[in-house]
Amino acid sequence: MTEETRNFGTEVGRLLDLVVHSLYSDREIFLRELVANAADATDKRRFLALSDEALALPENPAIRISVDKLAQTIRIEDCGIGMTKEELADHLGTIARSGTAAFTSQLAEKKPEDRPSLIGQFGVGFYSAFMVADKVEVISRKAGHDEAWEWVSDGKGQYTLKSATREAPGTTILLHIKPDAEEFLEPLRLETVIRKWADHIALPIELEEDGAFKPVTEGKALWRRPKSEISAEEYADFYRHVAHQFDEPWATIHWRAEGTLEFSALLFIPSSKPFMPVEDVRASKVRLHVKRMFITDQAELLPHWLSFVSGVVDTEDLPLNVSRELLQATPVLDKIRKALVNRVLSELKAKAKEPEAFKAFLENFGVVLKEGIYEDTGHAADIAGLLRFESTREGSTTLDEYIARMPEGQEAIYYLAGEAGHLKTSPQLEGFAAKGFEVLLLSDAIDAFWPARLGTYKEKKLTSVSQAGALFEAAEADETVKSLCEKLAKALDGKVSAVSASTRLQDSPAMLVAAEGGPDLAMQRLLRRAGR
Ligand code: ADP
Ligand code: MG
Repeated sequence: MTEETRNFGTEVGRLLDLVVHSLYSDREIFLRELVANAADATDKRRFLALSDEALALPENPAIRISVDKLAQTIRIEDCGIGMTKEELADHLGTIARSGTAAFTSQLAEKKPEDRPSLIGQFGVGFYSAFMVADKVEVISRKAGHDEAWEWVSDGKGQYTLKSATREAPGTTILLHIKPDAEEFLEPLRLETVIRKWADHIALPIELEEDGAFKPVTEGKALWRRPKSEISAEEYADFYRHVAHQFDEPWATIHWRAEGTLEFSALLFIPSSKPFMPVEDVRASKVRLHVKRMFITDQAELLPHWLSFVSGVVDTEDLPLNVSRELLQATPVLDKIRKALVNRVLSELKAKAKEPEAFKAFLENFGVVLKEGIYEDTGHAADIAGLLRFESTREGSTTLDEYIARMPEGQEAIYYLAGEAGHLKTSPQLEGFAAKGFEVLLLSDAIDAFWPARLGTYKEKKLTSVSQAGALFEAAEADETVKSLCEKLAKALDGKVSAVSASTRLQDSPAMLVAAEGGPDLAMQRLLRRAGR
């Protein structure tokens, strides 16, 4: 059998060196790259088979991975389109698109954590095999052809090509694992890597175990299937997987956007609080996919005040080789973010119509949601409209219900923020009770902040009861009261700005109020505690 030895294109040699040495800490991505290639090749064959039956895929197409511990090899097999001899040489022996020079200079400028994205960007994914292997064999048979070819290289400047046999069309990659990469020969480790990087691949991935291939991933991008075909159980399984939760989803939001922006989204809201305090989770748990390929879970597709939402967004509107820079710069993601927030908000609005179920949600995540009033002025009113509050009346109320009950003469929404337990008995409330004005009782820490930020709701000013002095007439004070006020002012000199008589109190002799323009009492307490 004739064997041909060829040199890599000059650029490839240098590039290999770079890939192997600069991406060492991320080398498990070799699997993502090889599996992605296998999936691409299978997609290509499926597509060509549409117009040429002879190319049809075998019955149960899959990517099959097996490990031979003795031989120290990992084998990755696909039934994709395959490569001819010349394609092996062209695709695996030269760099078609971009030059090493550009890659090298980019690599030098990048922080280590940004380097892996370059691999995909420069279309050099195959070479990442040499991060874990000191020899790579590729046996490939092009669909529609009878002969197969074997490409072998140690990644040091040369490769050989010789004719080979392969029963059916497709490609087999055989990695001779380096001694320092033996970890990947452990089935459990390998399985973890497959799950992490290839779970989304819309083709089953099977791992050989005791002579038989067992599925590791199911190969169906659930979010791409029509809603009507997906059972509640399938949704729940997928939810538990992406959200790392063990409960049932409280809400499942699945839709496909078409038109100017194309994406599929499948989002979940948990029915119980995660173990991690939600307030501490800054990062969004929504994964970004491009044409089914997992890209990143760091794209911050949802704002912090929706950080309890997890799921997948899969778009057609970004290139597969999207880089970190592009992710930051592209208007596509901003548009998707807007669409996601609006969709989640409308789902919450719909769900709020069932107060009992909604109460459970607010107990879990209401506090996080309130941060949105502070952080996201564009949606503040929508968020505020969803919340339910304790008030001086029995039970809880929404702002709209509160406004609907406002008696004639009441112009503002009144609230008292402070510690739970102390609110109901506060003397601050006496004057309001006498007037028949309901007061919202707010006891979350963040309640000291958001009402002032929101300002008004449906044109009603949110007003702290400790700042509502103008509602009450100054009392006609007689000489005794006047002199008492003077004495108190002197005794409390420097601690209060004024002492005055008011008609506001019914039962209590005295109370503190805040100046009209400044921070309310709850806020003052917080500021004092913070040492300001
Ligand atoms: P990219 O996937 O970005 O093109 P890669 O370095 O990963 O870059 O792969 C280079 C090329 O090699 C692919 O474009 C494809 O043509 C070919 N190739 C790699 N793996 C396979 C495979 N398993 N089956 C068929 N062709 C493959
Ligand atoms: Mg590739």
